[in-house]
Amino acid sequence: MHEQTLAIHAGYDKDTQRTMAVPIYQTTAYEFRNTDHAANLFALKELGNIYTRLMNPTTDVFEKRFAALEGGAAAVGTASGMAAIFYAIANVAEAGDNIIVAKQVYGGTTTLTGHTLKRFGIEARYFDVKNPAQLEDLIDEKTKIILFESITNPSIDVADLDAIVVIANKYNILTCVDNTVATPILCKPLEYGCDLTVHSASKYTTGQGLAIGGIIVERENLAEKIKGNARYAHFNEPDESYHGLVYSDLPLPLFTLRVRLALLRDLGAAPSPFNSWLYIQGIETLPLRMRQHSSSALAVAKFLEKHPKVKKVNYPGLQSDPNYEVGQKYFKGGHSGLLSFEVEDLATAKRIADSMEIFSLVVNIGDSKSIITHPASTTHQQLSKQELVDAGVPEGLIRLSIGLEDTQDLIDDLTKALG
Ligand code: PLP
Repeated sequence: MHEQTLAIHAGYDKDTQRTMAVPIYQTTAYEFRNTDHAANLFALKELGNIYTRLMNPTTDVFEKRFAALEGGAAAVGTASGMAAIFYAIANVAEAGDNIIVAKQVYGGTTTLTGHTLKRFGIEARYFDVKNPAQLEDLIDEKTKIILFESITNPSIDVADLDAIVVIANKYNILTCVDNTVATPILCKPLEYGCDLTVHSASKYTTGQGLAIGGIIVERENLAEKIKGNARYAHFNEPDESYHGLVYSDLPLPLFTLRVRLALLRDLGAAPSPFNSWLYIQGIETLPLRMRQHSSSALAVAKFLEKHPKVKKVNYPGLQSDPNYEVGQKYFKGGHSGLLSFEVEDLATAKRIADSMEIFSLVVNIGDSKSIITHPASTTHQQLSKQELVDAGVPEGLIRLSIGLEDTQDLIDDLTKALG
């Protein structure tokens, strides 16, 4: 089936009432037929609903539909994008292990990996996503996962998936791609041999800035990489907390299963059924919206590129952008709605951000409503002038998340604000 059809139908085979819309199963728990049925569900002899912290029929449609679009074997929904990233890491790494993370990632991922996980005894090593060869020097026998973004937020670089996968596979290490900005519509990292993707569903998936959520997707046949792999011993040895279950013996997508059975069970950042329903509504129009976000962003980027007050524009769809070629290789149908541009100094950037009419001054992306963000005065406020430059976010940098308003109106708004 084609993508637009999957976006409308995948994962939903009509419930007993034959409802056209996916119902919201707003429930905490599910009745067992009898004690044998309950025991079978707990022992995984039968698959079925137990408790909404672990699974829910509305969330199940969201997970199946998203996995279908991403070209994955299975998915597990979480309460936020950050929970998805944390669970993807916590599913493989423990105290004494290390993980390798791209320098160019969302700020929350930097603080999670560099500060919070450090307190759990997990070391984060950072590599430049534009120089995957650096991975070779960082990998050792305790390395559990390589995490990076397909399009980076906020520096707007594009990862060379093939180059990263080749090195990761040489050492049998899992790769995890935060595909939030690209969405499965524009880029499918699993098709290039990446093992996992994570997403903040709070962005393009809801599409209208309606809810906080996340999802982890695993590729087909991931078990082949994990089975017998000493790096992932806990998948290959009996799990004491699950009466001796050996995950790699199961004929099921084992990574997301373990997130569900161990991490959702014990840590519990599960999506609410209502939020899953919102993501399902969003996914129906995701392919249409991503094409529009992308074409409007390209038009705005071309406009900014010619503007005398703009020093530099970062958008992989522009031929002048250093990411153009790698973007052409991995992206189909556009380069998403995120772009950034640089003006002379802090004062000019602030003046522009403060004088927009249609663009809202917000720290979010992936909304139908256009958003302007000034990283130096918000998300990156704590950094010094030099640290800002090193992080690729100089004082005069402005990030735009291009929404679904009329493109000319957006350009007119920017024309007025640039003065
Ligand atoms: N990943 C990326 C690329 C993001 O931009 C964000 C949030 O901005 C997240 C993850 C975190 O997602 P959430 O806000 O849903 O926890």
